[in-house]
Formats: sequence, structure tokens, C-alpha cells
Amino acid sequence: MNAPLIDPFARAITYLRVSVTDRCDFRCVYCMSENMTFLPKADLLTLEELDRLCTTFIGLGVQKLRITGGEPLVRRGIMTFFKAMSRHLDTGALKELTLTTNGSQLAKYAAELAACGIRRINVSLDTLDPEKFARITRWGRLAQVLDGIRAATAAGLKVKINAVALKGVNDDELFSLAEWCATEGHDLTFIEVMPMGDMGPDDRLDQYWSLDDLRGQLATRYTLIDLPDNTGGPARYVRLAETGQRIGFITPLTHNFCESCNRVRLTCTGELFMCLGQEDMADLRAPLRASPDDAQLTQAIRNAILKKPKGHDFDYSRQHVVGQMTRHMSHTGG
Ligand code: SAM
Ligand code: SF4
Repeated sequence: MNAPLIDPFARAITYLRVSVTDRCDFRCVYCMSENMTFLPKADLLTLEELDRLCTTFIGLGVQKLRITGGEPLVRRGIMTFFKAMSRHLDTGALKELTLTTNGSQLAKYAAELAACGIRRINVSLDTLDPEKFARITRWGRLAQVLDGIRAATAAGLKVKINAVALKGVNDDELFSLAEWCATEGHDLTFIEVMPMGDMGPDDRLDQYWSLDDLRGQLATRYTLIDLPDNTGGPARYVRLAETGQRIGFITPLTHNFCESCNRVRLTCTGELFMCLGQEDMADLRAPLRASPDDAQLTQAIRNAILKKPKGHDFDYSRQHVVGQMTRHMSHTGG
């Protein structure tokens, strides 16, 4: 009953990413359309149901839980959920509880998050230019996010900045972003823009900035020391010899990282996606609601893991997007 989750390619599933809401207080251009229609609130799993699901996964060997969205910190009552999850840190069953956030609510919640045992967080920030920030996020204010990041640091949280690499948008800020992160003590990870959500007529190809190119540009100023990867994820890391900081590259498109994939993703309606880049999913809400006993739910999770595919099919290489997903990142959780 409690045997760990192993997929058909002998990968142990130890990492669960949970999108707790599809809503957000920003409308980033690569993530959402301006007039998003969100799910009816009744479709969402309650916080108690999310707790039961996460607790079941932890019982099956999940050791790392990342809370994401939409914007996780805009979900009403979310701190109750974080507090509840911290009990699994106390028992040692969970090794890490963390979140990915746009930072807008961090000034309000950073201290509470730290009190729940959260040690490291990811904050998405693509630019340090207030106008550009407003253009990318449509609804966001840079000053609010920078205040949030300061509050997080003051609360003792280690902040990693995630920046989507966008040609013609933030390519001129490569060095200023890296220098700001070095000064503030943040690690920095660049993400290739992925073909998800509303693609528009340009298929996002004109914004696509290969991280091989980005890395080459970094190497003109810094000495890049390759670091061994141990996250089981799509990121590869280097250390800049001159500043000592860690820079990550998430390259789902130019490099295939699927062999070591250790994660699955749960949406706020209880769909389990076994791969970010495939449509196949399993509904966990029905077995969750069918019985207060966890046996049916556990079986549904096991069946889903047995269907985890070998990898995704994203490919930008032929000047058109193959393997494109109509799903939004805010649905599956980034
Ligand atoms: N709202 C939170 C945030 O922005 O950090 C969490 C959810 S957001 C969907 C998670 C991550 O996905 C963010 O770092 C965001 O930049 C990234 N993202 C969204 N759409 C993307 C896309 N089309 N390609 C690459 N990254 C994307
Ligand atoms: Fe919101 Fe994050 Fe998507 Fe931006 S990337 S719209 S902050 S969910």
C-alpha cells in the first residue's frame, strides 16, 4: 500500500507540484490573455481536499512539494494550507515545502511562510525596468515585487529569481539582472519561453531566445563553471567564478531533460498531469470525493504514475512549433 511511486521508466516520483489556483493578480503576456476566463470557484478543490491529496502523495514517498498557480498567494486562506503542510516537515516525511510566486503578496506573507518551515522560494522577475515590467505583466507593479523580495530576504527566505528569456524584451538586461542578483544574494535561473496557452499569430517564435545563445553571451563577461545537476529537473547550473553566484538554465526545448524526471503536477481541480508537455492526465477529484477512505485515491494515483510518458514533444527547430500545448501554464502550474 505504501510502496513508493515508480513509473514505467524506473523513475521514482518524489516531487509534486501543486497549482492551488488558476487565478492571478498579473496577466503576463506569455502566460495569460488579458481577458482570462477563470474556473468557477466550485470546480476548485477545497484546501482540505488539497491537504488530503498532498498528504496521500507524501505517504507514497513524495518528499518535495512546490505550491504554485496561477498566483498561489492570492488564494483565500492559503496560509492555513501552508501551516497544515508544515506538519509533514515536522515529522520528516517531507524534506522541502516551497512555492513559486510572482512576489506581489510577499511583503504580507513572507514572515508567515518562514514560520511554516519554508526556507527557499522562487520569485518570477523578468526585468528590473518598471515600464517593461508593466508591459510584460500587464497588471503588475515592479516596486511592489521588489518590496516583497526584500521582505522575503528579511524573513530569512532564500530567494531564487526566475526570469523568462525573451528576445527583444529582456535580452539587453542579461548583465544587469545577473549583477543585481549577485549584489542581493539571489540565485538566478533563466527559462526558455514555452509554447503554451494563447500562442497568437507569431507562435512565440519571434520572442524565443535560445539559452545556448544567452549562455554564450554570459561567457563573454564571466567564467562559467558547470555544476553537477541534482534536482532531477530541467535546470542545469553554472557558477560564475567572478561573483560566486549560481545561474540556472531551464531548457525544455533545446535540451531533452526527461530521462531524470522525478515530478508530476496537480491542478487546482484535481487533474494530475504526468508530463508538462503532454495532454494526458488523470482525474483525482472523483476518487477523492468518492470515499473518505484513501484506498481508491491511492489506486488512482498509482494507475496514473504507470502512465507517465517517457518525455515531451516540444520542438521549435523547424521554424514552427511542434508539440504545442493549448493549456496555459497557470493551469498546470509552472
Ligand atoms: N504566478 C507564479 C509566478 O509567476 O511565479 C507561479 C505560476 S507561473 C505559471 C510559474 C512560472 O511559469 C513563472 O516563472 C513564469 O514566468 C513561467 N511561465 C509562464 N508561462 C510561461 C511560458 N509560456 N514559457 C515559459 N515560462 C512560463
Ligand atoms: Fe500570473 Fe505567474 Fe502567469 Fe504571470 S506567470 S500571469 S504571475 S501565473
